[in-house]
Amino acid sequence: MKIIDILKRDECGLSFEVFPPKTDTNYESVRTATEEIAELKPTFVSVTYGAGGGTSQYTLDIARNIKESKGVTSLAHLTCVSSTKDTVRMRLEAMEEAGIENIMALRGDLTPELMESDPDSWDYRYATDLIADIRDMGDNFCIGAACYPEIHPDSVNQKEDIRHLKEKVEAGAEFLTTQMFFDNNLFYNFLYKIREAGITVPILPGIMPITRANQVERAIRLSGSFMPQRFKSLVDHFGNDPDAMKQAGIAYATDQIIDLYANGIKNVHVYSMNKPDVAGAIQDNLSDILGKSFV
Ligand code: FAD
Repeated sequence: MKIIDILKRDECGLSFEVFPPKTDTNYESVRTATEEIAELKPTFVSVTYGAGGGTSQYTLDIARNIKESKGVTSLAHLTCVSSTKDTVRMRLEAMEEAGIENIMALRGDLTPELMESDPDSWDYRYATDLIADIRDMGDNFCIGAACYPEIHPDSVNQKEDIRHLKEKVEAGAEFLTTQMFFDNNLFYNFLYKIREAGITVPILPGIMPITRANQVERAIRLSGSFMPQRFKSLVDHFGNDPDAMKQAGIAYATDQIIDLYANGIKNVHVYSMNKPDVAGAIQDNLSDILGKSFV
């Protein structure tokens, strides 16, 4: 099923994100974890794409398995900046053959090698270029794209970032998923600005449950997200006790999600990181909310 059709439902929905194995060695354990997450029957499961494309086949395999063995809609991520047009074309054809209907079209991060080379020599410079190529293949794929409530780190300012976001939507992105954030007010502020700018497609807030104290530093480094004092206190207080930290992190993420639903957001995406227990606990916390309409 195309995600754009799922997002039209008038009910609270939850989707989960998983990542593919890096090598053959952990393929089975990752597949099992992703199957357990799919068994929770979220609205869809997204499968990330390894930076640089090294695990592209695994992304496809895991996305196909979720769809075929569990009957759950899957979304395969694809990055373009370190690829050629021919490679991207091959990957898109493989996705089409595998029956994947949804693609999260991304630029990918710039590697040190790319930063030293001439951008004019790259086949793809921005996600917009990839989205345009996917659209050239027809309407078989529903396309999602990324957005950044706290501004993409390469952007000069938020106005420019939103201007380029609008170009992504005009090129064919049908829905947007946000980078993680820990303060919902930053999301509401961003939502107001993009709607003002004329971006009307559905937007899925991305929530990352932090369940280990040592996840915090990495999460901030990768996302540049602001950590509210309320969250910092929680990590300071419970960080040395793994069970307490996990429970508190799940509660914090749940609280963010409930606030989003209460403010009229229908679909939330959880960066569940191949952790079925965390995904399941959040879903349990929302058991009397999910699938219902509160208009
Ligand atoms: P773009 O939309 O191309 O934007 C990148 C920067 O270029 C922005 O600053 C933008 O404002 C600017 N820009 C865009 N167009 C123009 C233009 N015409 N002129 C000048 N500037 C322009 N990475 C992975 O490797 N694998 C994944 O699976 C993955 N999944 C992700 C999922 C989500 C929901 C998010 C939020 C991020 C994900 N990422 C993933 C990270 C992503 O690849 C990086 O954030 C990357 O640096 C930017 O990708 P993008 O598609 O947002 O880029």
